[in-house]
Amino acid sequence: MAKEYETVIGLEVHIELSTKTKIFCGCSTAFGGDPNTHTCPVCTGMPGSLPVLNRSVVEYAMAMGLATHCDITRHGKFDRKNYFYPDNPQNYQISQLYLPICRNGYVEIETLDGVKKVGIHEIHMEEDAGKLIHDEWADASLVDYNRSGVPLIEIVSEPDMRSAKEVIAYLEKLKMFAQYLGISDCKLQEGSMRADVNLSIREKGSAEYGTRTEMKNLNSFTSITHAIQGETERQIDLIEEGKAVVQETRRWDDTKAESYAMRSKEDAQDYRYFPDPDLIPVDISDEWIERIRSKQPEFRPEKMERYRKEYGIPDYDIEIITGSKHMADIFEAATAICDQPKKVSNWLMVETMRLLKEKVMDPEDIRFSPEHLAALIELVDTKVINQPVAKQIFEVMFEEDVDPKQYVEDHGLKQESDEGAIRAICEKAISENPQSVADYKAGKEKAIGFLVGQVMKASRGKADPGTVNALLKEML
Ligand code: ADP
Ligand code: MG
Ligand code: ZN
Repeated sequence: MAKEYETVIGLEVHIELSTKTKIFCGCSTAFGGDPNTHTCPVCTGMPGSLPVLNRSVVEYAMAMGLATHCDITRHGKFDRKNYFYPDNPQNYQISQLYLPICRNGYVEIETLDGVKKVGIHEIHMEEDAGKLIHDEWADASLVDYNRSGVPLIEIVSEPDMRSAKEVIAYLEKLKMFAQYLGISDCKLQEGSMRADVNLSIREKGSAEYGTRTEMKNLNSFTSITHAIQGETERQIDLIEEGKAVVQETRRWDDTKAESYAMRSKEDAQDYRYFPDPDLIPVDISDEWIERIRSKQPEFRPEKMERYRKEYGIPDYDIEIITGSKHMADIFEAATAICDQPKKVSNWLMVETMRLLKEKVMDPEDIRFSPEHLAALIELVDTKVINQPVAKQIFEVMFEEDVDPKQYVEDHGLKQESDEGAIRAICEKAISENPQSVADYKAGKEKAIGFLVGQVMKASRGKADPGTVNALLKEML
């Protein structure tokens, strides 16, 4: 009988924090910017420059630790992880090895067998490295230190996950926590969330873990899923052939759908860690922890529960809207103004989701304001504009957050409510389309649709389609 295997997965997740300034200097953390413009002697590793810890980084890390049920380390410190690489100007990275800020937590994920706890071994603070740009045309490598010193937290899980599905559920959960806390946008594509996947295989029922490999910096849920499948198969094949899995770092190539060895697994001692003598220890008081705890937001499950009670919108809507903190904020603010939860929800679920998909954007990137969305709904409700015109304006709002009231004025988009004027256009349509009129009179109900279309066109979309329909029927 064929042996049954189990995949064992533990993750190391890096999350870039959205503090205004870097972890040890006052430089901006903004993404993009001309190369080496967000830099200073500290984050470019100039000899003699001294780091000063950014207090917000500690608070963001604590907030994440509290959300994931961790113990907060009262007396912590930073350590130097020594290695040479051109994107790392100091030749060491300031990180935390011995006394990470958070330990012993967990995250709950939903699986087919119910709720499951994934243990958090620790969360530590560290600095990001710069970026190398390999310019093949100039046959040169350039380095941009804008990202050097951007704060990161690394969340190290226990090897508690058993499938790609569980891994994705865990990552989604971390992302929700970070977004709801406002500590990171967690965009895998832009690298503000990065996952290293540690994976081993064991026979089902075995009490011991197998030897693991690590796959670094996977940047989409799809490539994570593929990498887990590919590496699971590779390790099972090795074991079936009686060969050993080597503990090493591998790179997953998503286009070739295979992984290759990068380097043998390094140990802590390879990095010659030692406490950073330039930084003082981090002492955290009970009061400080309580202050951070009292600022914890309403997280997604509580928000979903409240939406059910407060707004009476369908679960499906709630699921989508609360899937993004930013979208939920817009929903709540717009509803507070116009008091039309279902209408606000419809604009978000239908048109907003459609445009996001079309423009390959994230809900966190929505730019239109809740005030303008509420105003648009009011314009339709008060029959100042009709639904097709509202859609047209919404597309502009989505791009530039225009004020819909102003836009209607500027572009003369008010619904034609003067019945006399609509009647005149109808008459014209009837006299110009005798065939459709004859068809309608001969019993072809559908022919009227064409006439309505002609009238709408002639009114530049401003007539109310319902009124036009009724008028045409009456006149024929
Ligand atoms: P290191 O310090 O060498 O990186 P750790 O023990 O801190 O190693 O583990 C790093 C990650 O690897 C953790 O997320 C952990 O859950 C995971 N891990 C450890 N052992 C295994 C294993 N046998 N199989 C799968 N994942 C593992
Ligand atoms: Mg590690
Ligand atoms: Zn700097």
